[in-house]
Amino acid sequence: MPSKDPSPTPVPPRGRGVFCNRTLNLRSVRAIGYDMDYTLVDYRVDAFERMVYAQARERLASEGWPVDGLAFDGQMVTRGLVIDRELGNLVKANRFGFVKRAMHGTRMLDFAEQRDAYLQTLVDLSEPRWVFLNTLFSLSEGCLFAQAVDLLDRGALPRPFEYASLYRHVRSRVDAQHIEGHLKAEIAAAPERYVVQDPDAALALLDQKAAGKKLLLITNSEWTFTSKMMAHAYDRHLPGGMTWRQLFDVVVVSARKPAFFTEQGPFFEVADETGLLRPLAGPLRPGGIYLGGSAAQVERDLGISGDEILYVGDHMFGDVHVSKRTLSWRTALVLRELEAEVSALEAYRPTELRLMALMGEKEALEVRLSQARLALQRLHTGYGPPTGHDAATLESRVHDLRSQLVALDAEIAPLAKAGSELTNARWGLLTRAGNDKSHLTRQIERYADIYTSRVSNLLQATPFAYFRSPRGSLPHDPGTAGDPPRDPRPEG
Ligand code: IMP
Ligand code: MG
Repeated sequence: MPSKDPSPTPVPPRGRGVFCNRTLNLRSVRAIGYDMDYTLVDYRVDAFERMVYAQARERLASEGWPVDGLAFDGQMVTRGLVIDRELGNLVKANRFGFVKRAMHGTRMLDFAEQRDAYLQTLVDLSEPRWVFLNTLFSLSEGCLFAQAVDLLDRGALPRPFEYASLYRHVRSRVDAQHIEGHLKAEIAAAPERYVVQDPDAALALLDQKAAGKKLLLITNSEWTFTSKMMAHAYDRHLPGGMTWRQLFDVVVVSARKPAFFTEQGPFFEVADETGLLRPLAGPLRPGGIYLGGSAAQVERDLGISGDEILYVGDHMFGDVHVSKRTLSWRTALVLRELEAEVSALEAYRPTELRLMALMGEKEALEVRLSQARLALQRLHTGYGPPTGHDAATLESRVHDLRSQLVALDAEIAPLAKAGSELTNARWGLLTRAGNDKSHLTRQIERYADIYTSRVSNLLQATPFAYFRSPRGSLPHDPGTAGDPPRDPRPEG
């Protein structure tokens, strides 16, 4: 009798899958490095960002800003949007950098305003004009900046600003909350209000460790916060007396990513629980807690090359882009929003199929209309092969086809609108921009070998998974959307 497959967990919903851009065989990965915040430790975004926002707003109020009536709006901005520091806008760009939607202050621009502002402008993140919202930590900053632009435009701020300096000011106030310690103290005092428990993440890490992977924790958070959060999120889910510390071969706090990946900073050793530091003499040792340092030394001391290390993080630039570009590490992006995104797409699927069918009809009608117009043009100008139809017949056909297209458009418009508002009425899906891929998606494709909504999705995948990239479609592939409809009936 054939043996039954052991299945430790039920098949997860699609949104909790691990999606692959570049083939990755986990068996050839010898070390897995993890970021902490929003990667190993998942926060309630609304609670976290609301608090950062409230503290930054209080600070601005103390500087005389009229911000008392303002509130954090978790729907106002999303990860993957780009701040335009020159015009005081937030924009969503597609994979080529074309702006597809824009908001000035908190007001969405209409099509004409958007075209006038961006017809000649591509979003190029290498220019200082643009600030990409890389993580969920960016939401409070984006929201506060948009509201500050409204205040500035109304002349309500205590001193003049250009949009760029306004951005710098708001940014510095949000930044200060992360650095000054009230925020971290508040979270550490009531972690259950902010941290989402995920027992499967602990089990996934145990599986990886037992499969012989070296596990690394590399976070920009400082030691006391890291130790509190990791203990809160992991210790209760580990077997008998084990703590989070025993999961990791090396822990690096205050890592200063992205500089951690690009520079050669020195490591310090965290010598005791209070965070006392001493310079590191010699190589990194197993079980050690370190501060600062560099990815290059991690590779050297562990004797592991970049393509044998998988780094898992939520920050598009600081975790994924830089580790891939600088050191060719294998990379995984944690994109928490993916679960809502995939469920919305699944719920929209019947409407999408109807929309595709209608678009198919529309394209076929357009082909016929073009042919009828061409036949008419040739008849009027007197060239080309005869069609056997007179001008009145052709004109009536053009008229008829146009009316059919108008009727079809009226059917298509609400379905397309619903599709463009999935998950967020202002901005739509994170991964799409119009019919195309979003700028965020382009970066995910380029820099993240795999992407998934949370670390615990690796549990189902197992440490032995072989992720294979899909073949990928091109506009000229037969049967794809770019395959032009062919009307077998010659027009004429
Ligand atoms: P990681 O994701 O584990 O590397 O840690 C991210 C750290 O960066 C956390 O301690 C956050 O509080 C901190 N952080 C997030 N956003 C900002 C910011 O805008 N300024 C300074 N620190 C930030
Ligand atoms: Mg993080």
